[in-house]
Amino acid sequence: MNIEEKLTVKLGKPIASASDEEIYIALNSIVKEQIAARELTGGNKKLYYISAEFLTGRQLGRNLVNLQIFHEVLALLRKYGKDLKDVEEYEPEPSLGNGGLGRLAACFMDSIASLNLNGDGVGLRYHFGLFKQEFRNHCQYEVPDRWISENSFVTKTDVSFPVQFGNRTVHSRMYDLDVIGFEKGHSKLHLFDLDTIDESIVKDGINFDKKDIDKNLTLFLYPDDSDKDGQLLRIYQQYFMVSNAAQLIIKEQKDLGHDLHHLADHVAVQINDTHPSLIIPELIRLLIQEGFSFREAADIVTGVCGYTNHTILAEALEKWPMSYLNEVVPHLMPIIGGLDYAAVCAHHDNHELNIIDREGKVHMARMDMHYSHSINGVAALHTSILQHQELRPFYEIKPERFNNKTNGITFRRWLMHSNPELTKYIIDMIGTNWMNNPSELERIMYFHNDENTLNDIAEIKHTKKQQAAHYLKEKEGVIVDPDSIFSIQVKRMHEYKRQQMNALYIIFEYLRIKSGIYPAAPVTIIFGGKAAPAYTMAKNVIHLILCLQELINNDPEVSKYLRVVMLQNYNVSKAEVIIPAADISEQISLASKEASGTGNMKFMLNGAVTLGTNDGANVEIRDLVGWENIYTFGRSSDDVINLYNTNGYHAIDYYNRSESIRRCVDFITSPELLRIGNEEMLKSLQDNLKHKDWFMTLLDLEDYCNVKETVYFDYLNRPKWTRMMLVNIARSGFFSSDRTIREYNRDIWHL
Ligand SMILES: *Cc1c(COP(=O)(O)O)cnc(C)c1O
Repeated sequence: MNIEEKLTVKLGKPIASASDEEIYIALNSIVKEQIAARELTGGNKKLYYISAEFLTGRQLGRNLVNLQIFHEVLALLRKYGKDLKDVEEYEPEPSLGNGGLGRLAACFMDSIASLNLNGDGVGLRYHFGLFKQEFRNHCQYEVPDRWISENSFVTKTDVSFPVQFGNRTVHSRMYDLDVIGFEKGHSKLHLFDLDTIDESIVKDGINFDKKDIDKNLTLFLYPDDSDKDGQLLRIYQQYFMVSNAAQLIIKEQKDLGHDLHHLADHVAVQINDTHPSLIIPELIRLLIQEGFSFREAADIVTGVCGYTNHTILAEALEKWPMSYLNEVVPHLMPIIGGLDYAAVCAHHDNHELNIIDREGKVHMARMDMHYSHSINGVAALHTSILQHQELRPFYEIKPERFNNKTNGITFRRWLMHSNPELTKYIIDMIGTNWMNNPSELERIMYFHNDENTLNDIAEIKHTKKQQAAHYLKEKEGVIVDPDSIFSIQVKRMHEYKRQQMNALYIIFEYLRIKSGIYPAAPVTIIFGGKAAPAYTMAKNVIHLILCLQELINNDPEVSKYLRVVMLQNYNVSKAEVIIPAADISEQISLASKEASGTGNMKFMLNGAVTLGTNDGANVEIRDLVGWENIYTFGRSSDDVINLYNTNGYHAIDYYNRSESIRRCVDFITSPELLRIGNEEMLKSLQDNLKHKDWFMTLLDLEDYCNVKETVYFDYLNRPKWTRMMLVNIARSGFFSSDRTIREYNRDIWHL
């Protein structure tokens, strides 16, 4: 039976008379059958990718792409006057991640499956995810993100493990998400949960009783940890995740008849940031139970584990008080103590190497570095900063463990699924080999002076902008002009990413327009991103942006030239709509602070031109496209690190010195904005910018405003700009997560 016949049978009626929801359910069922028919990938050695987050995005579309029936289904539905996009809207997006780190884990699972590597993911099944973002009174509110539904691709299994917390034991439940590869390959994402979770304890936004672990353990990703109960809950979650992972590993190895002495020949564990770090003592504990000595077990586990560092922000390098760990996992404490003792004995008296510090805090990253055979950063600049600054004491004793693995993205989701128009055009130019060998995208460079090709690429971009404009109107109720320049900054809200700098630029442009100086072309600045619920300053930035949106879009004089949009509840599905529509990719983090970024890669692949600092993977984008196909500005990472080391940055000096900076910062509490916004929030943001500004917004602001004018001017030079677009697409092959995963396998996993 072909797809049309299958779909008609499933529906029990003609496709033309079925609703989008009925088609969604029927397609789901067809896809599930095809997945079930594909054998799981096997092999002598298996990878377990352990991560607190997997920001998978919707599954129907990715499965259609990877089963290679996406275009067929697209065309089939179109034939009956239906749009696959509308059908896909019925799938709730799994809310199992927060930002780049979780999205990376999802891209990696897609690449592991597609490269037919023997590897599964392990994580948690959070009922309400991070949270759903709502805007009221120009502020962010958090509500539970209810994504679990009847038709979900996540299915219940009968696998369960006992997990010991102090002197009591809970019993887990494993759920599975099938991860099907492109053409071949089939892996699983194992998500653990408790049957006793009680969703009804969540009251008033996202608040709940943090003490009732049986009922709350997997309700939310990153529950508030501003108090002791919150921190304990995080430790409960982390241990629950890794204890299940460790038991699954030992069970699977025993079932296969493998000798645990040779565990490192059969198992690789990748620790994605520090949340899964307790896998190290837990695996050692299980091996000791199997009769191994402490020394033997620690050596084996070191051979098994690899650690990925994702950030140099101090707040993200977890350390837990020993007394808290003692409350949740007392049975691990002798092991952690032993690991610390062994590490310290080997390395004398440098206390920066201690796992347990002088205040009795356990440093998870330090445990990872002592007991993993590989330590990797996620972009060349980031790895270099780890080696020479952040993790220098470790690099000095174990240089051979350090390696770089520049992040990547799966082109299946970020091009083939989200931009079928550009995909088809690339196929028309150079065939399909690039799909399995992304560096072959380079071959479109052959057309870089071909006027027709450049016009066609511009036309596709315009189509994607029209689609995004339509989506914004339908879903967010905002009007944007597809003929304006789309400059897009979508990512988690954080001061280091400097959305506040973009907001100050908007004020700069607003004031200029008011004084009669107009930008070279009309621009639409689009933001999207969630702020952590307890991160006041990030929420203040959202507030400022929403107030600017209100002020500017309703001012007929200004809105002809400038519009501002803040997307509500930015997630993978929204990213797939908005990124292909971008002309300019805003990647303006404070140099040295963005480990890699992966959003930057998605934009590049879709023909946006990067406007960014020399930070993270932007540096590698610049090296690939050349200076003439990217706009960079701002101080270098060396300068910034030096400013931190010498306490050399004082925001107020920049404020006092520059009239234009002063006018922008002052405007935050202007009568115009105070009429719309909350005085306390705006004032607090303004004071922060003048007197603290930890992420040095004012340092680069003038540079940023200046370069933007150049960008708009170049945009109007269509041959120049469209050639830049083409070069960016052509050189993006390096950022395929297939390349990244091949490198992990070659250097770390050896599957
Ligand atoms: C790619 C992605 C991110 C990461 O974006 P950065 O710009 O690298 O921070 C965050 N959220 C979603 C939904 C994404 O798709």
